[in-house]
Amino acid sequence: MPARILIVDDTPASAKVLAAKLTAEYYDVVVATSGPEALINAAEDDPDIILLDVMMPDMNGFEVCDRLKADARTAHIPVVMVTALGGRDDRIQGLAAGADEFLTKPVDDTTLMARVRSLLRLKQMLDQWRLREETGQRMGLVEGALPSLDDGRGAKVVMIGDSSLENGTVDSVLSADGDVVFSVAPGVGAEQRILEHQPDVVVLSFGEDADPTLRLASALRSLEPMRQIPIITIGDDVDMPAMIKALELGSNDYITRPLDDQELLARVRTQVRRKRYQDRLRDLFLSQLSMALTDSLTGLHNRRYLDSHLEGVMRRVADNNRPVTLLMIDIDHFKVVNDNHGHAVGDTVLVAVAERILRNVRGFDLAVRYGGEEFVVVMPDTDLAVAAPVADRLRQRMAETPVPVDAEVDNLTVTLSIGVAQSRDATETSAALLKRADTALYAAKNSGRNSVVTDPPIE
Ligand code: GH3
Ligand code: MG
Ligand code: MG
Repeated sequence: MPARILIVDDTPASAKVLAAKLTAEYYDVVVATSGPEALINAAEDDPDIILLDVMMPDMNGFEVCDRLKADARTAHIPVVMVTALGGRDDRIQGLAAGADEFLTKPVDDTTLMARVRSLLRLKQMLDQWRLREETGQRMGLVEGALPSLDDGRGAKVVMIGDSSLENGTVDSVLSADGDVVFSVAPGVGAEQRILEHQPDVVVLSFGEDADPTLRLASALRSLEPMRQIPIITIGDDVDMPAMIKALELGSNDYITRPLDDQELLARVRTQVRRKRYQDRLRDLFLSQLSMALTDSLTGLHNRRYLDSHLEGVMRRVADNNRPVTLLMIDIDHFKVVNDNHGHAVGDTVLVAVAERILRNVRGFDLAVRYGGEEFVVVMPDTDLAVAAPVADRLRQRMAETPVPVDAEVDNLTVTLSIGVAQSRDATETSAALLKRADTALYAAKNSGRNSVVTDPPIE
């Protein structure tokens, strides 16, 4: 699907010129002729990028941009202001409103297209994270809204350049606004030194020779931990082709000299806001993921996780000819605990059993809450001779040590029945192994409970 670009302009003629250029590059173009119309379109149709005129009756472009950035539905959409206004103050005002770029008409085509392409890449990446977030919400994994943009202040910035004068200016301007700026010398090993600072944004300054800076920009993009960290380049007018090249290589923005303090601040803030937005989306996703795979009562992994994890463990059995042993653990007469003391006490017992299981197995064993009062422990690289005593020790400790519950109820002693099954067979499926452990558990129940049964039996 081609990317969709929303042009906002009250003058049909200039919207048309821009639309023609973009259509020629195979983008889908939609035109809105006023600010309010643009806000509705942006919220409903989620365009990939918005090209925004500034001078419009009713609501001007600055205000439109402000509102777009304040609305969680539209805050992530990149905005390029395209306007006849060429003054410094207009540019600063536009950037401060959260615009990603401020271009003055007549717009240079190369610059416009390079900008559009780099912002589209950004939007597509954000969309992927938003999609996962929405899937999580739809699946009922989390409640809550998509993140909003913050002020982008208090960032860690790495500055790299040959000119100590310029390095000093960047440092003092950003430090005065609350950032921490680290200066890193260009040259061999610069990537690693940048990485050590874990920056929120990297500022790369072009010197006499553009090549080393381009090479560094490209190297940073190829380092996994650096891939998501925004890069802003600084250069002279003559460096324009190199700065556009840098955009194509994955840098996010550029500033032309003479360096304007306010412009530097506004562009750094925009990049930091975006990075944090993206980090938040990622964190949300990771926490959803962990919620989807853990049991909320006990904190153990859940059955869904076991199902996919055990497949991998079994494949290792096949590949390395190593055994795997599985414990299937069930609390005896647990229904009676609930019936006599209530569900809350039952829950306390489940948590205590989970803790004791964890305490009695090794770190690389996987403990899972398999169902209501059933637990599974996967012991990789472990044979029955090692696993059976572990199971029996757990059984014994459980039977000897009552579970402390609340003051109303005497401490409770519960017992466990455990089925243990070992697999050495490369062709056995995880379902078959689970089944054998379950059958052994059934035998343990039949033998009077509070017991361990192994498959195969140990003489
Ligand atoms: P057996 O010795 O044969 O295993 O008997 P049992 O009573 O333990 O087994 P049964 O399967 O009959 O009952 C299991 C009980 O576990 C029934 C159910 O209400 C309870 N249960 C399941 N999940 C939870 C939970 O999350 N919290 C509490 N408190 N109870 C639960
Ligand atoms: Mg039970
Ligand atoms: Mg049961």
